[in-house]
Amino acid sequence: MMDILIKNATVITMDHERRVLYHGAVAIKGNTIADVGPTAELCAKYPHAAETVDASGQIVLPGLINCHAHAGHCIIGKLNSDMMDKWWEALIRVYENHAGPDFWYADARLHASATVRNGITTSVNVMGSTPMGDDPTLPQAHAKGFAQVGSREILGVGIPLAPQYPKAYTRLRNGVPTPVLADYDDMLAGTEETLKTVHGAYGGLTRVFVTPHQNLMGHEPGEHVPRRLMELTPLELDINAKVRGLAAKYNTQIYCDTYGGWITLAATDKENALLGPDVLIGMEHVAAPNYRELMILAETGTKVYYTAEGFYKRVQISELMSMGVPVGITTNGCAPRTTLDLLESLRRAILAERLFHDDYAYMHARRALECVTVDAARCIGDESLGSIAVGKKADISILDCSSPDMLCISDPIERVVYGAAGGDFDTVIVDGKFVMRARKLVNVDEKDILAGANEAHERAIRQCGIEDCIDPPIWGRTRMELM
Ligand SMILES: [Zn+2]
Repeated sequence: MMDILIKNATVITMDHERRVLYHGAVAIKGNTIADVGPTAELCAKYPHAAETVDASGQIVLPGLINCHAHAGHCIIGKLNSDMMDKWWEALIRVYENHAGPDFWYADARLHASATVRNGITTSVNVMGSTPMGDDPTLPQAHAKGFAQVGSREILGVGIPLAPQYPKAYTRLRNGVPTPVLADYDDMLAGTEETLKTVHGAYGGLTRVFVTPHQNLMGHEPGEHVPRRLMELTPLELDINAKVRGLAAKYNTQIYCDTYGGWITLAATDKENALLGPDVLIGMEHVAAPNYRELMILAETGTKVYYTAEGFYKRVQISELMSMGVPVGITTNGCAPRTTLDLLESLRRAILAERLFHDDYAYMHARRALECVTVDAARCIGDESLGSIAVGKKADISILDCSSPDMLCISDPIERVVYGAAGGDFDTVIVDGKFVMRARKLVNVDEKDILAGANEAHERAIRQCGIEDCIDPPIWGRTRMELM
């Protein structure tokens, strides 16, 4: 007997043939998709499914995959999204000197609720603004909160902004806020403890990527003076070897940022370069990597995530895609100027590509949808996700199509990408289990989550003295720096 039968739906499978089934059905057994086909056929085959979902007028999609977000930002990341210096200062103060396990737990529950509401079933979340690994109790608390909602999380834990170590933090020791100096070896030790305790936990819903913040950990972020990009430092060679060792030991991926000019230098580490099929590299901050660097990414099989957001740079994602590089389009979390609406992120990416090329034929809806489903699954190294086909994991998001914006669009893919908002998702299934039904979260009391999140937000502002980030005096000014 099937556990769940979804019937009467428009099913966008994202399978090999990219089939779209009208009056389609999906049968789920345990955590696996057992059958996909016409409703009449599947209803005849499985007349006694334990649960039947009538998805008439709805669109069934593979659960969406957000390849890049930030743990912590749901609580504090929207503090002041326009004044980036204040924003950054406040975040660092909270993440490095205030936030204990309670903060990360409250953030995780809010974050996971919002991802599910937006039809996202897998989210890759870096610990903080830059990936702190020194204290495993923090990612452990995040993983626990996320799993309660029932969604998949991949935590990015590792080494924060290079290259000055040790880093000064305040951490709770026996409940007492204590100054801590954490070297990169401490970060890697904490990362290993996180891998031991969280990677594969919660029935496999939670994974951990080893996350050095950058693929050159001995260079200042964004460094682009050519003579400073001539040679890898001893620190970089050491970190590369240790990061690779850890990822291999726990059979997981490496996750890091890069900048223009850095890929060429990174590739000179013939043994341990942070490039390759097990590396998902962030191209949010890249200023114009050259053509040779795009070729290196393609030749090494490196995977890429990208966010089209005002603060960040335009990356040649169309060019990378045409070279066969898998690209995940992401929200970059829910801050500073984004939400967890991944469909909105697709529209931003489409707009950015078309403006850049001055050509509306770039980045159409179908190509964009691949970047949050099948190609995103390649990015996270788990192709059992991202499509609706027999044998794949049962992560399914069902979109309600009754909002006026979604009416009168004949093409179902354009209907999703151009007409829908994240809030239109009605039902979400993760690993064969309902986590949202009729827009109500199944496993948690959402009111409780929102109250806990608000409390954590207000406490962080009070304790960190960052009230001056609120309501900056910039009314009437077109450019903020003129104030
Ligand atoms: Zn980011």
